Amino acid sequence: MSHCPICGRDKQDEFCPYHQTASNNLKEMHEKWQIAAGLSWEDYLDKISDIEDTGRWIREVIEFITTQGNL
Ligand SMILES: [Zn+2]
Repeated sequence: MSHCPICGRDKQDEFCPYHQTASNNLKEMHEKWQIAAGLSWEDYLDKISDIEDTGRWIREVIEFITTQGNL
């Protein structure tokens, strides 16, 4: 068992269950946003992190993705 690169909890897949769920939600939401607004992944991440309601887990995933340059 290895650890979530974001928080160090035991991970299941790429992340721990919390960050994995956040990451899945992020990807699912992007598909909807892409259809609705034609946003690229980078623009979408920018927008999501500007929204006050965006939860802590999602923010941490965005931060991780952008600092890794793993877009
Ligand atoms: Zn985590």
